[in-house]
Amino acid sequence: MSVQQLSSYVCGEWKTGSGKTASLKNPTTEEVIAEASTGGIDMAAALAYAREQGMPALQELTFAQRGQLLMAASKALHKYRDELLELSTTSGGNTRGDAKFDVDGATGTLAFYAKLGERLGEARFLMHGEGVQLSRSPRYWGEHMLVPRRGVAVHVNAFNFPAWGTAEKAACALLAGMPVVSKPATATSILAWRMTQILVEEKVFPAGAFSLVCGSAGDLLDHLGCFDVLAFTGSSDTAAKLRGGPGVLQRGARINVEADSLNAAVLGRDVEPGSDTFDLFVREVVRDMTQKAGQKCTAIRRIFVPQDLLEAAREGLVEELSAQRTGDPTQRGVKVGPLASESQLRDVRGGVERLKGCAKAVHGDGSRGELTGIDHDKGYFMSPVLFEASDARAEAVHAHEVFGPVATILPYSGDPAEAAELVGLGQGGLVASIYSDDFDVASGVALGMAPYSGRVNLGSAKVAEQSLGPGAVLPQLIHGGPGRAGGGEELGGLRGLGFYMQRTALQGYKPVLEKIAKLGHPSV
Ligand code: NAP
Repeated sequence: MSVQQLSSYVCGEWKTGSGKTASLKNPTTEEVIAEASTGGIDMAAALAYAREQGMPALQELTFAQRGQLLMAASKALHKYRDELLELSTTSGGNTRGDAKFDVDGATGTLAFYAKLGERLGEARFLMHGEGVQLSRSPRYWGEHMLVPRRGVAVHVNAFNFPAWGTAEKAACALLAGMPVVSKPATATSILAWRMTQILVEEKVFPAGAFSLVCGSAGDLLDHLGCFDVLAFTGSSDTAAKLRGGPGVLQRGARINVEADSLNAAVLGRDVEPGSDTFDLFVREVVRDMTQKAGQKCTAIRRIFVPQDLLEAAREGLVEELSAQRTGDPTQRGVKVGPLASESQLRDVRGGVERLKGCAKAVHGDGSRGELTGIDHDKGYFMSPVLFEASDARAEAVHAHEVFGPVATILPYSGDPAEAAELVGLGQGGLVASIYSDDFDVASGVALGMAPYSGRVNLGSAKVAEQSLGPGAVLPQLIHGGPGRAGGGEELGGLRGLGFYMQRTALQGYKPVLEKIAKLGHPSV
């Protein structure tokens, strides 16, 4: 494969950066597949173009028309599905299943928001909640509305979902009426770059509605203005830097952060080994450890098991993990591909060594392990590692996210309140699951861990057949979590538009307000 030069699509043109380039490698072979640089690209002009061209073009459209753009984007990308899946494997080490998770997740989310746009119809803004009488006279009235912000949405994404991450953020922003400047993580950016090429070639969006910065962000974020927004997905360390930038701190640009998360799964004390619920628990924990080689922000990292079910849980998980082959992601039957980059492998190895200080490995050891279809010593491979700690409060387990195929079993008494409290030691997460068929156990754990979690997944025999598991982020439900997870909120159907819109209160003469309200979409 020749080395592709990745350019950025800004100001309505493809621009190739100069100076220092970053190399993108195939994580299976370590072969360089592309180079990216943003040196010399005028980021201030990129944002200005989006505000001046893209924003008015989008904001004059109705929700239904914006929805049509999203549907066109979904269809255009779907047309190139096979090529995108292949690129996802070459550039991100994804198995075909993992590649579909990202690429089909992207087109599916665009189509979901397209349909939402159709439902919102001819309006250009949303009314919010019930109106309220403000004085003794019923004439003096109050309402709330959501109008598109007068700025640009900058999206900075993580390496693990270059397709879905780009699309899920763009879908909400574009439907709300804000133009997008999207910056994928450099290591896997070739997929987002190719998607943008397709959208440009197919002339899907009006000029300035969608731009791509491929490579380092440079000084992009220094030019955020007061009505712009920044949606970030990545590590807490980067998030902390971005929160302190001048656009956010001094000019009041809005920021949403999706960051680290030590997601939890709790096995209820009522669950019998071999039952449907037990099998669901085993299946979903192992899927989360192995899908995308564990590089999923929602992947289960901490597995809480009642003391007297420890042996059965360990055996079940080890047996299922032993059936998952690690190796060449293009090979049938391989479930775990390589990690996405060398630095990713280094970080995960470091995390495994840290966990070895407080837990024993009951499956895997942090090495490449036995690899299927690999006859060289290249590639960023690590076979899954399952730890077990005797101390459920071991600090390293709750404090550091190991972003790879790694999780730890932790014992608890079986008391729902204790399980919830232990989940809270993770300092806030994206998703936590309880597996139980007993209402008191399920509701006790679910309600207890809800304040620490953006989403709570209740696994039981009744949903074992349908369960999508905690790892899948659905456009219908909110994605985000408190504390360490960043405190952000994305998706959740219409809720996802809120970040890109200004909630404005109106007060005045009721008949006038009612007439204004009729121009918007009725209460959401
Ligand atoms: P990262 O190193 O923080 O990078 C994330 C993004 O930030 C990349 O696009 C990166 O660009 C950019 N970036 C880094 N420094 C920057 C700066 N000073 N100014 C502007 N942009 C900057 O994270 P990652 O390694 O890609 O992703 C792994 C982390 O993401 C994990 O901790 C995981 O938990 C988290 N994650 C969270 C979610 C969620 O939804 N909550 C989803 C996925 C991943 P370059 O690549 O060019 O450096």
